[in-house]
Amino acid sequence: MFNKILIANRGEIALRIQRACRELGIPTVAVHSTADAEAMHVRLADESVCIGPPAARDSYLKISAILSAANITGADAIHPGYGFLSENADFAAMVEAHGLAFIGPSADHIRMMGDKIAAKTAMASLGVPLVPGSAGEVADLDAAAAVAAEIGYPVLIKAAAGGGGRGMKVATSAEGLEEAWRVARGEAHAAFGNDAVYIEKYLDRPRHIEMQVMADAHGNVVHFGERDCSLQRRHQKLLEEAGSPAITAEQRDALGATVTAGLARLGYRNAGTLEFLYQDGQFAFIEMNTRLQVEHPVTEMVCGVDLVREQIRIAAGHRLGYTQKDVTFSGHAIECRITAEDPETFTASPGRVTAYHPPGGLGVRVDSALYAGYSVPPYYDSLIAKLVVHAPTRAEAIARMRRSLAEFVVVGVKTTLPLHARILEEPTFQAGDYTIHWLERFVAGR
Ligand code: ADP
Repeated sequence: MFNKILIANRGEIALRIQRACRELGIPTVAVHSTADAEAMHVRLADESVCIGPPAARDSYLKISAILSAANITGADAIHPGYGFLSENADFAAMVEAHGLAFIGPSADHIRMMGDKIAAKTAMASLGVPLVPGSAGEVADLDAAAAVAAEIGYPVLIKAAAGGGGRGMKVATSAEGLEEAWRVARGEAHAAFGNDAVYIEKYLDRPRHIEMQVMADAHGNVVHFGERDCSLQRRHQKLLEEAGSPAITAEQRDALGATVTAGLARLGYRNAGTLEFLYQDGQFAFIEMNTRLQVEHPVTEMVCGVDLVREQIRIAAGHRLGYTQKDVTFSGHAIECRITAEDPETFTASPGRVTAYHPPGGLGVRVDSALYAGYSVPPYYDSLIAKLVVHAPTRAEAIARMRRSLAEFVVVGVKTTLPLHARILEEPTFQAGDYTIHWLERFVAGR
């Protein structure tokens, strides 16, 4: 097992990883920017190293500073969390070149899945169903028109290097194709320095359902079921559930069997999530995330597993030690992502938190790095807390989430708590009868 783990992240996820390390008896090193000197992840770590000024590119994204911090503290493994360097294949390779363990997949698999065209090609060869679309990169507008005519409008033009919903544009007809093509390529170039795009059929009423997998270095792969992440705004998830209200245990088992067999053939290692769109009873793969996901706690609650602990054990060469039949699902879990944003306009609301009272009680989990007196810095993602509830049934989980939202007090910054309370009240949500487009319309209709 590792002697010391450096956590190359901040906020709630840095704390989350520290918790798993502490329970395994492994000391932790926090890294932080000057803006985060007072942050909870720094206060609770065994050691901390300041790695640069506030801007992420000069601190949390600065590979040389992070490797130096690992070196001077004697850490022998690095956990990247999510965001920042977590899907940077070069970083993973450099960590290993420096003789440290990267707590995640191999650099080659990160690189493969980071190129969404390569990811789709690989998944198709493993028998995983895809969204209909171009066979690979689409070279020019004429080729785009030919693909769109073949699969039928509306189509979605997507960046090969895409992420965070950027570089994605819908064309509803042949007339709109040129504009969508230009905007998607422009965005892809600006955001990722790579203007390669591909085309998919734009599904009009899918759900976003993803599968959590875990693989050890000895060829054992299990899945921990699905999460329904259909509640999105601008292609960003706001609220997630495990399991999905839309699929049966048989569908979960069938998809899980395809996915785990595929990843075993690929020789994949550590945690991963395969994202699918689900419509008319069909799953269609869109991308794979080669890291821990923000929404991993809902899976932990229904499976009773600590996914970060599993990631660390696997990176240290341990075997999973169980098989698919040992993975059981109990009850229902919901996560609300609480951000420091205006709940009407979604403008960021950084500043000092003057009062903080998280909810508690049976089946309530709050993953947060907030405390009263903390100043939410303006430089990073606005996520300030993940409120997670677990209950025997979905209806009870909804009741528990509603009372937990009502107990949650954050004063000093605006938060999306009121928006979540409104979503939980909606009959459409309560019926579990929503697609990826529902929330956007709900927010617009206020
Ligand atoms: P990113 O990596 O930028 O998050 P994804 O490929 O994961 O991009 O897609 C993000 C979201 O965009 C999905 O969850 C879904 O809401 C929407 N989306 C992606 N592909 C399609 C599609 N073919 N049809 C309809 N919606 C889509």
